Amino acid sequence: MRDILLIGLYALTAGAVVGLLGAGLMRLLRGRSITVHVCVLLAITVAAVVAGVVTVARAMFLSGHDLQVVLVTVAASAAVSLAVGTIFGRRLAAAAMWAAQARERERRMEAGRRDLVAWVSHDLRTPLAGLRAMIEALQDGVVADPAGVAEYHRRIRAETDRMSGLVDDLFELSRIHAGALRLSPARLPLGDVVSDAVAAVAPLAADRGISVLAADRGWPVVTAGAAELNRVVDNLLTNALRYTPANGVVRIEAGRDGRDVWLAVSDSCGGIPDDDLPRVFDVAFRGTRARTPQGAGGGGLGLAIVRGLVEAHGGRVRVGNVGPGCRFEVRLPAAGGTTA
Ligand code: ADP
Repeated sequence: MRDILLIGLYALTAGAVVGLLGAGLMRLLRGRSITVHVCVLLAITVAAVVAGVVTVARAMFLSGHDLQVVLVTVAASAAVSLAVGTIFGRRLAAAAMWAAQARERERRMEAGRRDLVAWVSHDLRTPLAGLRAMIEALQDGVVADPAGVAEYHRRIRAETDRMSGLVDDLFELSRIHAGALRLSPARLPLGDVVSDAVAAVAPLAADRGISVLAADRGWPVVTAGAAELNRVVDNLLTNALRYTPANGVVRIEAGRDGRDVWLAVSDSCGGIPDDDLPRVFDVAFRGTRARTPQGAGGGGLGLAIVRGLVEAHGGRVRVGNVGPGCRFEVRLPAAGGTTA
């Protein structure tokens, strides 16, 4: 019985020495990836077992041959444990990374939701209060002359249209944030999407003397959801017109770059302040020019929607100041090697 206790003590001491060295090593590895930690942890465990077995074997004065047998057996099981452990350890590390990414996504979605709630409380309540005031003025006869009444009706109509546009944007954005977007990707000739968008803004452009320049041919084909791609191009083009002064120029170009298709909308807005550039895609960001809902700008959701839709396609969007204005560039994975 005493012998067994002594042998146990030997094994424990050898394991503890390896364990302490391992703990020191783990400290040195702080900040390294989870995979490295899992692999080193496994190696320490196996080394502690090997050290215990070898110490006990030596303490028992095994013959050279028997010691070799023990060592070969231990080495074989150590190799199997390390191999199995490394494979499952890597999976564990990957699962831990996914979990961390999911937590980060959830955190960003929560922040997005908070922004939206703040946006709703300000940007819908303020115009609603204005509408109520105008309706009460009409009801109470405060405004009674025909010209005044017609003007109030026109403003109520315009404000209602603007608010329903904002509610549509809000709905779209909440679908994106909730991950409820169901894309039906199809091969789309970008030229058709652009010419539809240009036709839709033609009256506004003509009204303000703005030239919208787009090539007649050479547009790439892209795989994307039709409604979503239309929305992206519409939002970028509408913004370019909205922020370009009268008689300015808006240019739309596209091309292929390796495995990507790019689409760029450039305007003559005079440039976006450097501090604002990283924030233009944030929910409810409206620069310094249009902080009130009555201003020329919209609800500050258009570019957040653009980014959400582009990222849902596995693409990315960026902005920079180029020449007399700014240039928004969307990159999407290409459909194939064709041009239309
Ligand atoms: P908004 O409805 O206010 O246009 P967006 O999300 O579309 O909201 O744009 C956010 C802000 O980014 C705008 O308020 C404006 O300050 C800036 N911006 C967007 N597009 C342009 C552009 N083409 N030229 C200059 N500034 C732009």
